[in-house]
Amino acid sequence: MNRFLLRAAACFVLLALSASAQTQKPAAAPDPALDKKQEAVALIEKQQAPLIQMSDEIWGYAETALREARSAKTMSDYAEQQGFKVERGVAGMPTAFVASYGEGRPIIGILGEYDALPGISQKAQPGKEPLVAGAPGHGCGHNLLGTASMGAAVAIKEMIAVGKLKGTIRYYGTPAEEAVGGKVYMVRAGLFKDVDIVLAWHPSTKMNVDTAGGQAIVDTIVEFRGKASHAAFDPWNGRSAVDGLEALTHGLNMMREHIVPTARIHYVIVKGGDVPNVVPEYAKLWLWLRDIKRERVDEMLARAQRMTEGAGLMAGVEAKLTVQAGDYERLVNMTGERLLYSNMTWLGPITFTEEEQAFAKQIQTNTGVPTKGLLGQLQPFDPNPPSEGGSTDVGDVSWTVPTLHFSVTTAAEGAPWHGWPVVATSGMSIGHKGMMYASKVLAATAVDLFEKPEVRQAIKKEFAEQTKGFVYKPFIPDGPPPVPKD
Ligand SMILES: [Zn+2]
Repeated sequence: MNRFLLRAAACFVLLALSASAQTQKPAAAPDPALDKKQEAVALIEKQQAPLIQMSDEIWGYAETALREARSAKTMSDYAEQQGFKVERGVAGMPTAFVASYGEGRPIIGILGEYDALPGISQKAQPGKEPLVAGAPGHGCGHNLLGTASMGAAVAIKEMIAVGKLKGTIRYYGTPAEEAVGGKVYMVRAGLFKDVDIVLAWHPSTKMNVDTAGGQAIVDTIVEFRGKASHAAFDPWNGRSAVDGLEALTHGLNMMREHIVPTARIHYVIVKGGDVPNVVPEYAKLWLWLRDIKRERVDEMLARAQRMTEGAGLMAGVEAKLTVQAGDYERLVNMTGERLLYSNMTWLGPITFTEEEQAFAKQIQTNTGVPTKGLLGQLQPFDPNPPSEGGSTDVGDVSWTVPTLHFSVTTAAEGAPWHGWPVVATSGMSIGHKGMMYASKVLAATAVDLFEKPEVRQAIKKEFAEQTKGFVYKPFIPDGPPPVPKD
């Protein structure tokens, strides 16, 4: 055998070895936390009746941002009955609370939301019909969100109580996700300072771990103040606030061409004068700017601020832009997302019944989208996901403490979100199934985090690298949260 042949033979052996290594993957090491995860899942199942009851109760209350008094009471009372230490009215919001159990480290947090959206009341049926005309509805499924998170916190608490897990579990009752951004005030109040890792989920039309971070957002109000006069008799004495508003929206619409495709600009005219024969003295625009990176939102905001000044000058009126809220994009922790993915894979898909699929298809028919029914299968792990529209105040938490986030099917694929179809499925068995599943993912992942210090370390290391040199600057103005007085 000459040297060439010898090398070729060695090469062949190596190739064969690597091929066999690929075909015969070594069996994964048994999960040392498996028994405890199974126990946590059983503790969720044991709570099924009270959890469904709690979720339906909150679905019925359908309270909007910072008005979630009954929803917050239902949840915090439940936590207290289960032995949690509950602190109500945190961060200046009567409907915010923190429920803790256990002592020492690790401290694992679970986020819960429970606010509804105005004007989309709906019965739990596949055709559009309000429960109470004009009233709010759970068009984002936050009744399921808050309840699933509570179920997981209680399961972990039971295991700490009997000494099977060591550390502290903390449930964050976070109000006003849909407006205001309750979590931003809770972050600013330092409520997440000492937490090791936070878990969160969101109702969806799909099952996946959230490797896309959504969008950062700034929520602003622009006001114009001019001078009223008769629009025909002495218009030269007037200066129109609406002229200023129109100059600004014209500028914003021209800016659309000169921003990156991931950015979004949207506004509504809150006040645009009263009658045509009075030169409008006052005009008000509600303007949101978004992008997948906070820095780019800051840049757009600076441009909008200069445009506001320019629009005021053009119209000869006073112009003022005020930032009233905003969120960071969600910082994705891939190590954490992989952990969530392993637990969702372990739990398997959600099986929906024929009746549930028919219910979803009826909604899809009624909203004119393909009748695909419900997606109970887990989507593949995507380390490079396309950018995604939408913002959440979970973003601000995720830049403060490593935050793991996933989505679970609770609604019909393709049907409009923040609308009646989501309210409908959030109040019946489709939503309940997604909620129970999410609760199990949260609990199983929490068990991993309590039991596996090396996994905690890896998640925290990734977070530390991502946030090196980062200084947190919330968008919210100084002062207390805007709690409604009525
Ligand atoms: Zn939501």
